[in-house]
Amino acid sequence: MRRISRPMQLGSVAIGGDAPVSVQSMCSTPTSDVAATLAQIERLAAAGCEIVRCAVPDEQAALALAAIRADCAMPMIADIHFDYRLAMMALQGGVDGLRLNPGNIGARWKVEEVVRACAERRVPIRIGVNAGSLEKDLLERYGHPTAEAMVESALGHIRILEDLGYGEIKVSLKASDIRRTVEAYRLLAVQVDYPLHIGITEAGTTWAGTIKSAVGLGALLYDGIGDTLRVSLTGDPVEEVRVGWEILKSLQLRQRGPVFVSCPTCGRCQIDLISVAEEVEQRLKDLPLAITVAVMGCVVNGPGEAREADLGIAGGKGQGILFRRGKVLRKVPQGELADALVAEAWKLVEEEPPG
Ligand code: SF4
Repeated sequence: MRRISRPMQLGSVAIGGDAPVSVQSMCSTPTSDVAATLAQIERLAAAGCEIVRCAVPDEQAALALAAIRADCAMPMIADIHFDYRLAMMALQGGVDGLRLNPGNIGARWKVEEVVRACAERRVPIRIGVNAGSLEKDLLERYGHPTAEAMVESALGHIRILEDLGYGEIKVSLKASDIRRTVEAYRLLAVQVDYPLHIGITEAGTTWAGTIKSAVGLGALLYDGIGDTLRVSLTGDPVEEVRVGWEILKSLQLRQRGPVFVSCPTCGRCQIDLISVAEEVEQRLKDLPLAITVAVMGCVVNGPGEAREADLGIAGGKGQGILFRRGKVLRKVPQGELADALVAEAWKLVEEEPPG
């Protein structure tokens, strides 16, 4: 069952409550380079990114936010560390959300000023605790950035905002190891009702980071924890979005495009199934219809899976049987299987245009 969190609005995207778990990413371009950042945001949007975050390390970056915001079709979050003036500039630039730890920006009046400006614009603040940058006193007390220390850090930042009467808060508790991250989120999830932004930080390169993110976020989401997610990869942020969607689709929490089923092949397979499966996946990755597509090697499990899917093939000797919604359409020679499946998928799009 999903954890009940308080609903809030980040620009046009609802977060928490019963809103779908949203997929976000972060630009890797210098924010001060408006054209490059907007080009990357466009690629992220095409991959299904719903919220984008930009780093604001200096005034040039803060000044660029207004121009980026003007042409950005999705809600935008400014990522601020230490300098409250950058937060104020970002708010003036029209951002929809801030990522900022109030305990790290100094005097109380600075926090008050930021909170007042956020309240005027109904801009949520994400408190982002990261195991790599935990407060010194917590590290001394706990010895290491443990899950408990991370939660205590988050509660400290939350208290600062609550004392100022501000409740538009999201929280993240990220570590680069899965056990600590999952434990920290589980501990915090029962103590507050703020929406949780989940992620495994610094998860690694696209290959290793995808696996770590799927395991960590999968465990949390399966427990009903998580209102918005970011997959962190050392690579193209577009991959973060694709992986995020795949995680949500695999848990049937969201739908977007096809879900693929294909067998691992074995000694019974008599067609070149691996290349057919890879070609079909590649050619249908942007299909605008949430369907299941099965590519199966032989008559053992093939007809069963292919029949259950919206579209499927079950391999035979040098050929395959094409299925659509449980019915056999025809036999197709091996060399034409990918074409036949792709054509059938687009026929479905024509017949059932997506909303
Ligand atoms: Fe092997 Fe057939 Fe199963 Fe594929 S469907 S793994 S070819 S038995």
